Amino acid sequence: MSMITLRDISKTYGDFQVLSHCSTWVSKGEVVVVCGPSGSGKSTLIKTINGLEPIDSGDIIVDGTTVSAPTTNLPLLRSRVGMVFQHFELFPHLNIRENLALAQVKVLKRSKDAAMEKGMALLDRVGLAAHAEKFPGQLSGGQQQRVAIARALAMDPIAMLFDEPTSALDPEMINEVLDVMVELARDGMTMMVVTHEMGFARKVANRVIFMDRGEIVEDADKDDFFGKPRSERAQQFLSKIL
Ligand code: ADP
Ligand code: MG
Repeated sequence: MSMITLRDISKTYGDFQVLSHCSTWVSKGEVVVVCGPSGSGKSTLIKTINGLEPIDSGDIIVDGTTVSAPTTNLPLLRSRVGMVFQHFELFPHLNIRENLALAQVKVLKRSKDAAMEKGMALLDRVGLAAHAEKFPGQLSGGQQQRVAIARALAMDPIAMLFDEPTSALDPEMINEVLDVMVELARDGMTMMVVTHEMGFARKVANRVIFMDRGEIVEDADKDDFFGKPRSERAQQFLSKIL
C-alpha cells in the first residue's frame, strides 16, 4: 500500500525549473532516502508532500488525500505528516515538556495532562526524560534535534519527513540522532529522509532516490543503488561522498 505517491510533479520559480516531472512513492513502513547535490530540489520535493511548497502540475496523494485539492485541510494533513528540518525549530521560550505538548493540545485537542504524559513517554524514548524542564537553548544541537523528533512523534504521524536532520550538527552528535531514526525505522515508521548519511541509508533504507537538477535521476532498491547506480551522475555523486 502506498502511503505517499508523487505523480509527475513539476514546479518552477519564475523561469527556473526546480522540480521536473518527478514521480515516486513511499509504501507503508518503507524508508526512502533522498540524496543528490546541493540545489537539486531535494528540500523542495519533500516540502511538497505536506503542502509547504505548492506545485504547478502533477498530483501528490498522502494516505488517500490529494494534497493540492482545494478541499484538503492542510493544517490537519501537516499534523499527520511529521517533518523534521535541518534546524531544530523548537519554540525557544517554552521548556521541552511544553514544546512537546503545544501542538497536541492546539491541533489534536488533547487535554494538557494527556499531552504532557505522551510527551514524557516520547522524551523517554529519545533518551531525554531528564531534560523535560529545560529550555531548548540549554540543550546541545543533537539533543534539540531528538526533541524535535519526539515532538513530531507526539502527533501520532502516519509518516515522517526528514530534511537533512543531521547536517547542522557537530560530528559527535550525528549518531545520537541517527540512532533514534534507525530505531524509528525498525519500528515500522513510514519515512522519507533527505540525507547524505549513507551509513544510515545502508542500514535502514528500502530505496534510494538520487536527484539532480530537479529530476529524479535514479530511484532504486538500496542494494542496487549501492551495488552500482545506473546513471553516471549518481556514480559520480557517490564517489565523492563515500
Ligand atoms: P536542495 O535541497 O537539493 O539543496 P532546494 O530544493 O533547496 O535544493 O532548491 C533547489 C533550487 O531551487 C535551488 O537552486 C534554490 O536556489 C532554488 N530555490 C529554492 N527555493 C526558492 C525560492 N523560494 N525562490 C527561488 N528559488 C528557490
Ligand atoms: Mg535542501
